[in-house]
Amino acid sequence: NQGIFNIVKAHVTKMDKNSKNKVFFKDVAGCDETKQEIMEFVHFLKNPKKYEELGTKIPKGALLVGPPGTGKTLLAKATAGESGVPFLLISGSDFMEMFVGIGPARVQMMNESTLNQLLVEMDGFGTTSGVVVLAGTNKPDILDKALLRPGRFDRQITIDKPDIKGREQIFRIYLKKIKVDNDPSFYSERLAALTPGFTGADIANVCNEAALIAARSEETQVTMQHFEAAIDRIIGGLEKKNKVISKLERRTVAYHDAGHAVTGWFLEHAEPLLKVTIVPHGTAALGFAQYVPNENLLMTKEQLFDMTCMTLGGRASEEVLLGKISTGAQNDLEKVTKMTYAQVAVYGFNDKVNLLSFPQREDGFEMMKPYGNKTGAIIDTEVREWISKAYEGTVELIKEHKDQMAQIAELLLEKEVLHQDDLAQVLGERPFKLTEPTNY
Ligand code: ADP
Ligand code: ZN
Repeated sequence: NQGIFNIVKAHVTKMDKNSKNKVFFKDVAGCDETKQEIMEFVHFLKNPKKYEELGTKIPKGALLVGPPGTGKTLLAKATAGESGVPFLLISGSDFMEMFVGIGPARVQMMNESTLNQLLVEMDGFGTTSGVVVLAGTNKPDILDKALLRPGRFDRQITIDKPDIKGREQIFRIYLKKIKVDNDPSFYSERLAALTPGFTGADIANVCNEAALIAARSEETQVTMQHFEAAIDRIIGGLEKKNKVISKLERRTVAYHDAGHAVTGWFLEHAEPLLKVTIVPHGTAALGFAQYVPNENLLMTKEQLFDMTCMTLGGRASEEVLLGKISTGAQNDLEKVTKMTYAQVAVYGFNDKVNLLSFPQREDGFEMMKPYGNKTGAIIDTEVREWISKAYEGTVELIKEHKDQMAQIAELLLEKEVLHQDDLAQVLGERPFKLTEPTNY
């Protein structure tokens, strides 16, 4: 099918050391962790022997996952520039257009064959060719599963919106390209504080726009006034797309996320928190707490209970500290509901339902028969009671640490990202052992 083959070709750019307009890591700022991860990936690719010895498939691609404009494409180009590994780069929007979206009918028809074509190409790169495919997306979960199998895009590397420090670094890059009336570091600091939720692309835009505004008013240098006008203009555009959160929302998110952070800190069996941030992430969750991934295949009843409390900590904090609840806990509540149904009706953790285990449906909410209406009613009641009990406990815990909670929330508003040592400064050493953060 030559037509489709050409579509795939057209969307793929071959990047290698000799491409013109080379990009390097220094051109991408505010995402050091992602850079490091991508370099490790490249390192693996340059040592395919290891994979062969282990008898495993050499990965041929990585998905860069993150919101639009965070520099996925730029980073992919920089990786090619730095590493000398030839890359096939599929840029974000093209990738999405090819494999998801549009209308259901067209997706089914066209995309399936495009997808297959891409897979054939990927599988066809000999193990020796060392060609790597990088693709960017902001919605990995709706990509066809076939793309994620071993030997294809079997590695996901996330890139988040920059925090305040990251934004400062990105501003520094783009301030160099325009003529400003003050020391660039004077501006990078102030502008970073004014632009929470902005991506690298938004920041590049601010600088460009500010220079345009200055030019229009026939001035020879860009001033704070021009920057402010540019930021306003870009916020206006972003608000339409619902990407920028208001001050009030930011506060709610900070208190919500401080709730997760603090409960996790004081619950013995909860997973310690790596970092908590109020930098908006993509579309779903506003804030985001990152925990040490639990490597245990088996979880105890205590662990699941504490995990439930920690997940409820966001809502509980909104209620206790702000006296107002928001829709921000939806995702948490969904998780808790699923988790609790599983404990009651799958794992045999509940005395009334006892040691019965029913297969779960795919959505995780409903168990499949065989059980009668009576058992069904018991399951529902027990799940409700468990969640209420966990919530009450969480509220108590938060009341106990109310002042520290508020301190964490305010610190979060100021710094946007908190790591374990920031938490320890306010909360004291965690009374329980911290697990070392695990790398893959
Ligand atoms: P994505 O692929 O994630 O949608 P792009 O890489 O296309 O984003 O970013 C668009 C532009 O925004 C880039 O060409 C660059 O000018 C700017 N940009 C985005 N992120 C960064 C960053 N982290 N550092 C520097 N510039 C950035
Ligand atoms: Zn939450």
